[in-house]
Amino acid sequence: MEKMERTYTNDLQSGKKSLVKGWISSVRDLGGLKFLILRDREGLIQITIKKAESKKILELASSLVREDCISVTGMVKNSPQAPGGKEIIPESIELVSKAKTPLPIETSDKIITGLDKRFDFRFMDVRNPKVRAIFRVKDIALTKMREYFESNGFVEVHTPIIQAAGAEGGATMFPMVYYQKEAFLRQSPQLYKQMLMASSLDRIYEIGSVFRAEKFHTRRHVSEYLSVDMEMAWIESEEDVLRIAEGLVEYTLKGLKKDCKKELEVFGAKVNVPELPFKRLTYSDVLGILAKNGLKKEWGDDLDDPDEKLLGQIMEKKGHEWYFITKYPGKIKPFYIMMEGKASRGMDLDCRGLEIASGGQREHRYEELVKVMKQKGLDPHKFEFYLSAFQYGMPPHGGFGLGSERFVQQVLGIENIKEIILFPRTPERLVP
Ligand code: ATP
Ligand code: MG
Repeated sequence: MEKMERTYTNDLQSGKKSLVKGWISSVRDLGGLKFLILRDREGLIQITIKKAESKKILELASSLVREDCISVTGMVKNSPQAPGGKEIIPESIELVSKAKTPLPIETSDKIITGLDKRFDFRFMDVRNPKVRAIFRVKDIALTKMREYFESNGFVEVHTPIIQAAGAEGGATMFPMVYYQKEAFLRQSPQLYKQMLMASSLDRIYEIGSVFRAEKFHTRRHVSEYLSVDMEMAWIESEEDVLRIAEGLVEYTLKGLKKDCKKELEVFGAKVNVPELPFKRLTYSDVLGILAKNGLKKEWGDDLDDPDEKLLGQIMEKKGHEWYFITKYPGKIKPFYIMMEGKASRGMDLDCRGLEIASGGQREHRYEELVKVMKQKGLDPHKFEFYLSAFQYGMPPHGGFGLGSERFVQQVLGIENIKEIILFPRTPERLVP
């Protein structure tokens, strides 16, 4: 007999004998009929067992419980009452792997289990269509970002995760033992991205894990996240970087709208593709807007969560979900950002009150860079490997780092960033 290919539930066609494989989502008994609902990656299908006609199948089916793995062969028929409008009349059912009872967490589309418990049994949590949708959206978002970079002449690179020093000092870095020495997990690829601007590669991007030893608990911080980084040389000003950032967001959102219809629907998320160019507010503009709304800040203060939230609400009312904040005070931006008097060429990209990316034009002039490093209390000798790239021909350059999980979090309107990570790392969680 010819080996039958497995069909996903969304590809089933009525009148066709098919093989489906998946987990049992529910079992129901109705007089002369028994229903198994099988769930796979793409959806659900009803397996309808007519008790009188199929004694052998019924015997097996009676022993089945939720989340058992089964494989079913049978004829597909239209059935208006069934979920998805189709059913399979089984010719054979095979139990592939048994599930223990009781189940540790709920997998139906109403998410009722607590977040921590769900992470303990994440493998099972992702069987939930609503949870699975998040990871499909994340996947497509990253694919679209890659496409955008590639079509704009960016080269994908991979810089070291094990580093000797960080871009912003060691306070938020995880130390590790590296042979006889101390090393750190990178908090960003910043220094390496910049060194590559002296390499002739011109336009680079990197999508990779970065690590932050954040001690606090917020809905937007985790200890390990996937950063989308880019750096480009020969720029005129930070405006060149802003244009790539907004282009990237626009392209990615368009792509999600087109390729993630089903997932966005499962989530009840509506994606608006923003118009270009995004609104640019200077940091001073932002202080003015906040003051008008009763939030007084001194020039030089960092914008914290309540400030960003209020600004987000005001901007959304004006029709701007996405906007840049430019010309940040130099003292609250890192040493590698180009200073401009007391201000800087550093920027943030925010979406509805949440910071999604940070970047700007970098300082490419060796003497200036060393000067600012010293002002910020850093020892230039510890950065010789980096600084040497600025002494043999370094073009003006800039770039940004974008948090991929923050992006998905805000696009889908998810409260906690941990939901967008399969196995999140936080101060409390290292397992699984
Ligand atoms: P925040 O002020 O929100 O803590 P940051 O300014 O410290 O962020 P950056 O160093 O600018 O963060 O990092 C670039 C981007 O990486 C941020 O805009 C954000 O999208 C993301 N990001 C930063 N820290 C985290 C974290 N701990 N968990 C998840 N994403 C993060
Ligand atoms: Mg930032």
